[in-house]
Amino acid sequence: TALLEVNHVSKQFGNDSKALSDVNFTVNEGEFVSIIGPSGAGKSTLLRCINRMIDATGGEITFDNMNVMNLKKKELKMVRTRIGMIFQHYNLVNRLSVIENTLHGILGKKSTIAGVLGLYNQAEREQAVRILSMLGLGEHIYKRADQLSGGQKQRVGIARALIQNPRMLLCDEPIASLDPNSAKTIMDHLRTISSQMGITVIVNLHQVDVALKYSDKIIGINQGQVVFNGSSKDITKED
Ligand code: ADP
Ligand code: ADP
Repeated sequence: TALLEVNHVSKQFGNDSKALSDVNFTVNEGEFVSIIGPSGAGKSTLLRCINRMIDATGGEITFDNMNVMNLKKKELKMVRTRIGMIFQHYNLVNRLSVIENTLHGILGKKSTIAGVLGLYNQAEREQAVRILSMLGLGEHIYKRADQLSGGQKQRVGIARALIQNPRMLLCDEPIASLDPNSAKTIMDHLRTISSQMGITVIVNLHQVDVALKYSDKIIGINQGQVVFNGSSKDITKED
């Protein structure tokens, strides 16, 4: 069943030409989807419209049967806890440790006094350690974020998203700053998160070969428009 539906979505920044025009696709529960396209195609804009970091100018986005473009502040906060974000530049807090950065992902708590003070309970800490161990970071939980390699930083980014128990992860060029080995580790973890945890994963990529290797579905975007929507098999057949 469809977890995410994007219908006729467009986005225009100011008077510029449209960054997205009439974008349509659906993503099923647990699916691993890659969005590929050249730089400037609109991939990042699309993900930011889905989690409402920015507002689309037209169309409709439905996530878990909710109209994402039409949410009150409370509902929007709730939707954001169900949608984890992974960024190209990790967006960690450098002076905080690995486990503190992970716990920082508990978005709902950030507006409480305990959250502001960085106070987390035992269950939350144990959950953070479990997730970090799963991602191979069990021995680094007290290291400062700025002491980590890029690949390790991105795994903390994934841990920070997972701790909020999301239904879906939106990953914006998660491997674009990584060497091939670290990139493979990250993609393998994302694939496991989709196949074994049942979490829907959407990844922006510009490498077609990586998309072919990992994805259930590939959506090609160019100049703000969907130019391809199919499985890896469909692409290989055309070549
Ligand atoms: P991609 O992620 O595929 O590289 P983006 O979504 O970042 O592409 O960009 C799509 C288009 O939208 C580009 O032309 C870009 O310059 C433009 N764009 C993105 N963000 C903004 C913004 N905040 N203000 C104005 N234009 C933007
Ligand atoms: P708060 O109001 O709790 O401080 P914000 O919505 O202002 O939270 O976002 C704070 C930080 O969280 C920002 O850096 C933003 O990029 C990031 N963020 C926003 N939405 C999400 C999301 N769905 N998942 C993870 N991080 C997010």
